[in-house]
Amino acid sequence: MPTNPYDFDEDDEPREHDRRRRFTELECPSCDAVTPCDEGFGDGDDVLCCYCGQEYRAKVSDDGRLKLVES
Ligand SMILES: [Zn+2]
Repeated sequence: MPTNPYDFDEDDEPREHDRRRRFTELECPSCDAVTPCDEGFGDGDDVLCCYCGQEYRAKVSDDGRLKLVES
């Protein structure tokens, strides 16, 4: 058991991502469908949900978190 008082990060995913992270799946916020993107997409790319047809602009934060903005 670690007793490090600074070890309070419950997210056990190591912080290995940054803004250049690439994603291979679009999880559509609108219809919850997952569209696989074989070529991948990253910050600033436009992605299209192939189920509902909604287009998104991908934004990746400095710690590699994906945010989708309807475009
Ligand atoms: Zn969709």
